[in-house]
Amino acid sequence: MKSQVFFIPGDRKEDPKTLSGKMEKLYLALGLDGKIEKDAFVALKIHFGEKGNIGYIKPDWLENTIYRIRQRTSRAYFADTNTLYVGMRSNAIDYTQLAGQHGFTLEKTGLPVHIADGLIGEDDEEVPVNLKRVKSAKIAAGILHADFLICLSHLTGHVQTGVGAAIKNLGMGCASRAGKLEQHAEVNPRISAKYCQNCGICLGYCPAEAIIQKNGSAVILDDKCIGCGECLVVCKVGAVKMRWGEDSAGLQEKMAEYAFAVWNSFRGKIGFLNVLFKITKDCDCMAKDQPQIVGDIGILASVDPVAIDKASADLAIKHGKKDVFRAGYNVDWMLQLRHGAKIGLGSLGYDLIAIAG
Ligand code: SF4
Ligand code: SF4
Repeated sequence: MKSQVFFIPGDRKEDPKTLSGKMEKLYLALGLDGKIEKDAFVALKIHFGEKGNIGYIKPDWLENTIYRIRQRTSRAYFADTNTLYVGMRSNAIDYTQLAGQHGFTLEKTGLPVHIADGLIGEDDEEVPVNLKRVKSAKIAAGILHADFLICLSHLTGHVQTGVGAAIKNLGMGCASRAGKLEQHAEVNPRISAKYCQNCGICLGYCPAEAIIQKNGSAVILDDKCIGCGECLVVCKVGAVKMRWGEDSAGLQEKMAEYAFAVWNSFRGKIGFLNVLFKITKDCDCMAKDQPQIVGDIGILASVDPVAIDKASADLAIKHGKKDVFRAGYNVDWMLQLRHGAKIGLGSLGYDLIAIAG
């Protein structure tokens, strides 16, 4: 069965008030607003952007939507979780301050920021799913205990999953640190001594101290590596290699199963907005500005995470006139979507319904 995906064309250079109006129309198209009870906890799951990154969804674009939600409940909040990698998003204090620097303050938005898996990513709850790769997902308690979940996702490419949008925001983004580790567990990069220039950059980025320098090359210690993929992204000469098929397949399927765990916990009380502006080769975890791989397209909304991600990727490919994601990393990003459809997370078929902006 096909799912409905709503779409309004747009460009991040438009006036923020115009974009806020477009977001509001799409939020209302989800049909969730009328269901929100007084005093309900509404989590707006978002990536606040790594320090130095500018691709993240801007708080100004959400003003009207926040106004709508606050008419229903005073208990709405922005939520995200701690990262595996070293940086400003690896503990709740640094991350809350960074979110504030990016404009997500109570004074500006009217909503508090809640890092939903606790101070250092330890606050989670098990959600049994009994699927192919994940038996029980470890989900951030501060998201799981909400009554409604609105997932706000910025479509990007990704070094390990090819595409990152609603499914990634849900599966990886709502997992605690233990949950993220479980999803990355079988990712096992290698460093090619032939290409490695022994510059040592990757050593400084590895959160597990799993890289050493030996015999003129960097080397990964398998027993320490947690599969986070940071070294893949930071190596400028492409010396770090992933087993693209095997590693990515396992990660994407686990991510879809984690997404299912969250989605299933909120059935009928969850919606997705995907923003297709400043689509970049890597995700907003990159601590720098990045060039776009395709021009701005617009914003989509759906209650189906598989359908909205498929529609988002299809639009990016149509506008780029090629698979802009595979041009960045040769990853079969359809794996997460196909597996999502197979386990009941959503539908690959969709009707794209244009809404007047
Ligand atoms: S960043 Fe790349 S070139 Fe530099 S040490 Fe690491 S693997 Fe080698
Ligand atoms: S070696 Fe690479 S993938 Fe493994 S933990 Fe370190 S940065 Fe992450």
